[in-house]
Amino acid sequence: MTNHLFDLVRASLPADPSTKTFIETGDGGRLTYADLLDRSAAYARALVGLGVKPGDRVAVQVEKSPEVVFLYLGAVRAGAVFLPLNTAYTGPEIAYFLSDAEPALFVCDPAKAGELSAVANGAGVPKIETLDAAGRGSLAEAADGAAGAFEDVARGADELAAILYTSGTTGRSKGAMLSHANLASNACTLAEVWRFTADDVLIHALPVFHTHGLFVATNVVLASGASMIFLGKFDPKQILALMPRATAMMGVPTFYTRLLKEPGLTPEAVRGIRLFVSGSAPLLAETHREWQARTGHAILERYGMTETNMNTSNPYEGDRIAGTVGLPLPDVAVRVVDPESGAVLPTDAVGMIEVKGPNVFQGYWRMPEKTAAEFKPDGFFVTGDLGKIDPDGYVHIVGRGKDLIITGGYNVYPKEVENEIDALPGVIESAVIGVAHADFGEGVTAVVVARPDHPSEAEMLRALEGRLARYKCPKRILFADELPRNAMGKVQKNVLRETHAGLYQA
Ligand code: ATP
Ligand code: MG
Repeated sequence: MTNHLFDLVRASLPADPSTKTFIETGDGGRLTYADLLDRSAAYARALVGLGVKPGDRVAVQVEKSPEVVFLYLGAVRAGAVFLPLNTAYTGPEIAYFLSDAEPALFVCDPAKAGELSAVANGAGVPKIETLDAAGRGSLAEAADGAAGAFEDVARGADELAAILYTSGTTGRSKGAMLSHANLASNACTLAEVWRFTADDVLIHALPVFHTHGLFVATNVVLASGASMIFLGKFDPKQILALMPRATAMMGVPTFYTRLLKEPGLTPEAVRGIRLFVSGSAPLLAETHREWQARTGHAILERYGMTETNMNTSNPYEGDRIAGTVGLPLPDVAVRVVDPESGAVLPTDAVGMIEVKGPNVFQGYWRMPEKTAAEFKPDGFFVTGDLGKIDPDGYVHIVGRGKDLIITGGYNVYPKEVENEIDALPGVIESAVIGVAHADFGEGVTAVVVARPDHPSEAEMLRALEGRLARYKCPKRILFADELPRNAMGKVQKNVLRETHAGLYQA
């Protein structure tokens, strides 16, 4: 194990960094491991030259490109704390994150500099620099002038390498403080359990401001000296065309459902690929089965979160079970507890998932009370996800604690109801939520996306009555053209709850 995240990169450097591809871009560009060393050193020097001190936050909102990865590594080498921001965030959102994080430097696209300089100034950020995906901007100029060797600033294993804000699916995003050891240990573990080597070529079409694209996909490539094909957006046709040149792909479930719509998805098209990984949101068992039927590959589903990096993974060798997120990773302990009493629950009982291990973060940035509340005295972190562990040790996620519905005093797990609804004829997908109800506290409510010839609400409700206990049956089924989702494909149930808040009001 290494202390410094960049030591991980050094440990897997190829013998001749100038001939080994690190990143290929969709337009045929190629950057080597020598470029990685040079560019990250140049950014590290530029940051030090701009007065960035060890421990200072460097907030970055730049479109995905190799330059962002080099800047990330440059910040890490300079001992700074890398803080990527979602490229969809607008001025007022940026203002919140900058006031919360108090970075020493904010880096944004030159095209947005006019608006965002004012925002950053208002938030008290002392320095603003620019960088775009093509590697232009004031920070790139500073880096160009600062090329040469750089001696990495030493950092302890528990010192911060990054602050990453959570996706904001259940409320306001929280800053998760991630140490060098958190990131390095998880990257090594994943590279090992997923059998990554320098011969791998990963299709990388994820954003790099979430844990999935940055601390899973990019770090696994770095930890194994592999290559990646770096794409700014997910285009199923382009991905299919690139598959013959790749060995692995990591994606969110919507990548897989969209690829399944392509007639070109055949066993032949994916012949060179050895591994498909899915995460960030639940992969429907149906998608898993359909993918296997179409391509011969069982998608490997894993589970993690911003705060903990990855916790579980289906096995590389062994059964990848649809509808489960697999087994705890080596060194990661996973348990299921009763949310009220805190007692550890037996096999198959549903409760709150808690995890402990070197992957678990250092706490929420400037939220000591929340941090204290989410850690148990024995060091386990309360994930907020509900699930169970089956007799074979596989973890099943049944939903989020915040999505649990309490109706007439009974607990209803939305996923159980969604599974029954999804099995009805004509249904494409569903989301089950609790909506305030005078008699029941919350009324079980389903929002359903269905084909035009779907059965009526009354017919569906009748069908469900035969399959679910009465208290679990929806009071209403509402039809929608689509479910609200964020960029990672997560269904935004809080949006649905707001939209339908008044449903049962007289
Ligand atoms: P916030 O914490 O701000 O509400 P978020 O929890 O969506 O947002 P992330 O840290 O990006 O932010 O997402 C982690 C969550 O994603 C997990 O807690 C879990 O609910 C969900 N998740 C990740 N992988 C899976 C998976 N394979 N199956 C089901 N859910 C998953
Ligand atoms: Mg969360």
